[in-house]
Amino acid sequence: MNDSDPIPIKERIIGGLWGSLVGDALGVPVEFKDRAALREYPVKDMREFGTHEQPRGTWSDDGALILCTADSLVNHEFHLEDMGRRFVEWMNHGLWTARGKPFDIGVATSGALFRIADGMPAEKAGGTDELSNGNGSLMRILPVCLRFAAEPIDSFANRLEKVSAITHGHARSRMACVLYGLVIRRLLTGSKPLAALDSARVEFTGLYEKSDSLNHFQPLLTDDFLSLPEHEIASTGYVLHTLHASLWCLLTTQDFRECVLKAVNLGGDTDTTGCVAGGLAGVVYGLNGVPSEWIAPLARKGDLERLFHEFTEVCPNFG
Ligand SMILES: [Mg+2]
Repeated sequence: MNDSDPIPIKERIIGGLWGSLVGDALGVPVEFKDRAALREYPVKDMREFGTHEQPRGTWSDDGALILCTADSLVNHEFHLEDMGRRFVEWMNHGLWTARGKPFDIGVATSGALFRIADGMPAEKAGGTDELSNGNGSLMRILPVCLRFAAEPIDSFANRLEKVSAITHGHARSRMACVLYGLVIRRLLTGSKPLAALDSARVEFTGLYEKSDSLNHFQPLLTDDFLSLPEHEIASTGYVLHTLHASLWCLLTTQDFRECVLKAVNLGGDTDTTGCVAGGLAGVVYGLNGVPSEWIAPLARKGDLERLFHEFTEVCPNFG
């Protein structure tokens, strides 16, 4: 990558989508493994079986819900009910799963999807209590970030919050999606990771300076990621841990492979940390930065290629 030969926006959009799925699939076989175990036997390549007994190249709930979201955005400009309906279809009938059946679902997500199936409007379905702050909306928000990246910040943030709230309605989860989106938005137009984070921090603080939840974001807004040691990075399923860990992985590595392996090898919620970091790194390094030997084993490649192509057609080109 250099300034005279920038990566086209489309390559970044497609890179982010493949990158998310690859990061998810790299993490699936070692989900819940702790960091010490992965240090002994680190993930270096796409493995098979392991935690969920799945073949190589299998994405989990993260990937499936990203794909449901992208598909909704291809078919409707912005339709929360349609997104919610597709998420229910994933849970009940395996829509956009790698191999026909979901094998993992978060507590907050299943609660919200049962409420939608029972007739609650999607925009009100997500839990709003403090314990409903797992990473289940952050992990699937990327397509919305990409699709609306050219919008003014207020409406961009508003859309991300609404899509988060389908399953995760607490302010902290909604705001985490916005902070991720603000970084993605900068990366998409070619900002370097550190500059993108700096801009996103200023924009985020401007949006939420009156929010009671802003104090929870202090580490994300002030940490010097470049000097943070690994033992200060948590990789649980808590939304702010996932966002913090993913940004740290992006900022302390030099290419897609290094970033995503670092994320997965943190242990814990490996598939989601891998997925969120993979989305960031895919946008930074573009499709050519995502190792082809990790794309090759992914399930349903033809379906993915078709969807991603259609998705780029509805995305802004900033032209
Ligand atoms: Mg998962």
